[in-house]
Amino acid sequence: MARLVLTVNLCTVAENIRRIARATERRLIAVLKADAYGMGATSLARQLEAMTEVFGFAVSCPLEGVVLRKAKIVKPILVLTGILPGELNLIERWRLTPVVSDPAHLLTLKDSTLPYHVKYDTGMGRLGFLSPQNHDPRICGVMSHLSSAGTDSDYTKEQIERFEGFLGAHGPLPFVHLQNSAGIAFKVPRANLVRVGLAMFGEQPAEPFPVQLSYALELKARVVSVKTLAKGSSVSYNRSCVLSEDVQIAVVNIGYADGLTRALSNKGFLLVHGKPARVLGDITMDMVLIDTTGMDVRVGDWVVVVDASQTFGALARLAGTIPYELMCNLSSRTRRVYRR
Ligand SMILES: *Cc1c(COP(=O)(O)O)cnc(C)c1O
Repeated sequence: MARLVLTVNLCTVAENIRRIARATERRLIAVLKADAYGMGATSLARQLEAMTEVFGFAVSCPLEGVVLRKAKIVKPILVLTGILPGELNLIERWRLTPVVSDPAHLLTLKDSTLPYHVKYDTGMGRLGFLSPQNHDPRICGVMSHLSSAGTDSDYTKEQIERFEGFLGAHGPLPFVHLQNSAGIAFKVPRANLVRVGLAMFGEQPAEPFPVQLSYALELKARVVSVKTLAKGSSVSYNRSCVLSEDVQIAVVNIGYADGLTRALSNKGFLLVHGKPARVLGDITMDMVLIDTTGMDVRVGDWVVVVDASQTFGALARLAGTIPYELMCNLSSRTRRVYRR
């Protein structure tokens, strides 16, 4: 029996997708790279495949696409990082759609009739062509990626303008997409798809955000020991916490090896029967210590690490990182449970 359980409410994910589709009047590419940010790509794809609001899926590399195809997923699967030498057979055999962003990708595709999407670099400075590409009947989509949709609206608007410029080089295209979750706050009139990862789970990608989202995730861990340490005792490695009074300590079986980053040492709270219990001392590989003074807590109790009242986003802000990083660092000893 797992001591660390992540629950993904698939009904809530589906509801968030419907709300995003309604607000944007676009269909979605559900971005499921890195095992759907650690939330479980196969389970999500199986649930979302039947939704009319979902056009298809996006993954980072071919192997992630093959995993979905082996799970009987039939909708389009975009491979965001393109196609490398030696990958053509795999990509064709599993009917994956490469996103071409480098002349070398085109070279690999030269004897193939496989449809592909073209990616332009409109200011992300990562993947994408910097100049318009020749017309090619195999091109079924054009895309780009926003670098700062949650933090810089002027720059985002510049990227949108450059994107529309690149679209001029192509005739009518079946698929045009630019926005990620935070990008939904902007209008891209010529786009007909949006690529959404984070917002599916109810994580607010930007403040303010035009779509009301519900939180779909819960992470909980078990208490393995409870005891009272006397005033003056030090807690955990390196003595970063020395107690100024007697404190009841609960030892919870989640640590930095599970993704609870050490940056949260002496920061934030876990929820014990709904009440906040402060994190004390350095977070260790497998355990974290919390102050449960005055609480009725017992060995074996479940403690909430993440839920609607303390999201991955909130923890990430405390830790000086982003929710994506905390989510995809969840360990393999975390059991994923799906509510339908
Ligand atoms: C990860 C990714 C997305 C999804 O981003 P979210 O912020 O999670 O919505 C969209 N497009 C590309 C190219 C990505 O790499």
